[in-house]
Amino acid sequence: MGAAYFLAACFSFELALGVSGVATLWPASGIFVSALLLARRNQIVPMAVAVAAASIIANVLYGASFGTALAFTAANVAEGILISQLVIRTSGVPRTLDDKRWLATFFGAAVAGSAASAAVAALLAGELTLPFFVSWFTTVCLGMLIVTPLIVAAANEFPLKFTQVSRGSVLRFGLFTTVVGIVCWAALALGDGQFLFLPVIAIAAATYAYGSRGAAISISLVAVVATLETDFSAPVIGEFALQWDTLFLQFYLLSLLCSVWPLSALMADKEKLIDRYAQTTDLLQLAEKTASVGHWALEPDNATLIWSEEVFHIHGIDPGDPELGGAMPLEEVSSLNLYHPEDQDRVRTLLLAAMEDPVPFSYEARIIRPDGAIRYVSSIGRPRYDASGEFRGLFGTFQDITEQTETLEALRVARRDALREAKTALRLSETDELTGIANRRKAFGELRAAARLAEVSGAPLTIAIFDIDHFKAVNDRHGHHAGDVVLKRVAQIVSEQLRPGDCAGRIGGEEFLVILPGEDSAAAQGIIERLRLKVAAEEWDIAGLKQVTMSAGLADVVVDESIEKSMQKADRALYDAKQSGRNLLRTAA
Ligand code: GH3
Ligand code: MG
Ligand code: MG
Repeated sequence: MGAAYFLAACFSFELALGVSGVATLWPASGIFVSALLLARRNQIVPMAVAVAAASIIANVLYGASFGTALAFTAANVAEGILISQLVIRTSGVPRTLDDKRWLATFFGAAVAGSAASAAVAALLAGELTLPFFVSWFTTVCLGMLIVTPLIVAAANEFPLKFTQVSRGSVLRFGLFTTVVGIVCWAALALGDGQFLFLPVIAIAAATYAYGSRGAAISISLVAVVATLETDFSAPVIGEFALQWDTLFLQFYLLSLLCSVWPLSALMADKEKLIDRYAQTTDLLQLAEKTASVGHWALEPDNATLIWSEEVFHIHGIDPGDPELGGAMPLEEVSSLNLYHPEDQDRVRTLLLAAMEDPVPFSYEARIIRPDGAIRYVSSIGRPRYDASGEFRGLFGTFQDITEQTETLEALRVARRDALREAKTALRLSETDELTGIANRRKAFGELRAAARLAEVSGAPLTIAIFDIDHFKAVNDRHGHHAGDVVLKRVAQIVSEQLRPGDCAGRIGGEEFLVILPGEDSAAAQGIIERLRLKVAAEEWDIAGLKQVTMSAGLADVVVDESIEKSMQKADRALYDAKQSGRNLLRTAA
């Protein structure tokens, strides 16, 4: 630290031609302040001692009396400690130059500390003149403003980032700063200041390209070149006069600093925003990809439709450059044309209605991909308003629901088939295969239902059992097939004669049950008698078969009596009819 301070002091003295000359900058102060800012607490005192020694030696070496050297040294050491403490206590140790608050504190502390230092030096050295004060203040202050940020940046940023930096980018940075240096040198060396705008452009470019590091390095370059290039007329020893050349250069450098640091801070903010934007976009894209849900926005103002990457993906369209992907003019890609022709009108009408009367909406439709594949999509949307409540267009999610839809459709078909089969099975299980009328199971089911209904309504219910007479003989004489024909025809006649509410079932080989709800036995006798006569009157197309007759037994189904009991009664009546000579109807007592 001592050596660095000594060399920096000698550099300034060398250019200013001694202690009483006027230097442009006093970088030694900047080096000291940055060291103090980066130092640990226990390093402060040894550092101050080393700097004090270096300062006294350099001053004496360049012609100062010991007393003056002591005075200047005291001012410089005190100023360094004052400024670094002010900064650390207000804004802490600097971590990055892009911290605007820290930079502002540092600027303020440097200006105040330099003014205090100039006053102390003037007092102690007995040089109470305005030129001395101004010269001390500007040199020290500029030295700090230029050098300290550079060292702080170097200490904080370069070691950390060096491993991540490629050789190419280091070379580019070197080349860039060399160009900036040459431009500055040329601008200051040639002409009488007509080219002073060139360093401004160079520094702005460096800041734009490399942020705070570019700013710090290019300003330092300008300062060094400017200091070396300024033609210092030999000052009169012991007498300070305001040197306008030097002052001009100092304020020129100060102006550069004051314009570049805010620019670099803005650049840093912008970069941070861009980083955050990129991160947010990344996360959103990842979320959409994970959930297979995209989003779109329709902005009628600038006639733009914005699609997220996932929407492109669902459409099977390459978003191309993801930077550009998204916004597309409405006229250029009418996304409605990508819908299935049968769905286009519905979606168009729905979206137009949502534009007219902004309310939340949702729809499902089919799209056709470029490869011809049909996908089912679902969109849930709502109107979008800006901060002032102005309608800005529509926003919607976009989801591929093909798998769900296909699964649902498959389920629907399977359910329909299963229902149909169950229905068929039920019908088969209730139908007599030969005659097509109700089988025994169904007939008894119907009987139970009719009995329950009769019990509730109090209406009468009558049943009859038919049995074909000498049917065995029909089979024996005319064959089993003829027997089947007879059975079918008898079942048909019975069914035809009954009313819709009645029921007839085949409950045995050539035995039938007829259920007559709402009929008492007197009315039922008429119906059954008619049936019996109808069968007896039937003419048969079977050779040798003249007549088929039936016997019937009839019974009421009475409340409080079981169905089995009613069946037994009907059965007994039927037996009675058979016994009494067949082709007869008997009613149970
Ligand atoms: P009854 O007048 O006393 O009733 O005399 P039946 O001959 O009709 O009575 P039986 O119970 O002795 O004979 C019934 C016959 O019905 C015997 C059986 O071969 C015949 N049969 C039963 N089911 C069928 C069928 O599905 N088709 C045919 N062709 N014959 C059947
Ligand atoms: Mg029988
Ligand atoms: Mg019989």
